[in-house]
Amino acid sequence: MPLNHKQIQTLIELVAKTEDRELDCDEFVNFLAEWSEKVMNGEAVATANASVRHHLDICPECSEEFRIILEILKESDGEADALLA
Ligand SMILES: [Zn+2]
Repeated sequence: MPLNHKQIQTLIELVAKTEDRELDCDEFVNFLAEWSEKVMNGEAVATANASVRHHLDICPECSEEFRIILEILKESDGEADALLA
């Protein structure tokens, strides 16, 4: 049975509402460790994905941690800002 237009529309809306899976703090810290190491090594820096940004928004502790690391990185490499660009 083919989907009618309304059913397809509903499916599209469902998919659009589904955000990237949310990170927990452990996953965020892992990401941060990997990311800062890359910046330190002068490697290409991947832009933060939506779930990382989302976690920064909802988690003051990780947000603070991230801010501190960003400050440290800024002193050695100006490209640390790339994550938030
Ligand atoms: Zn967190």
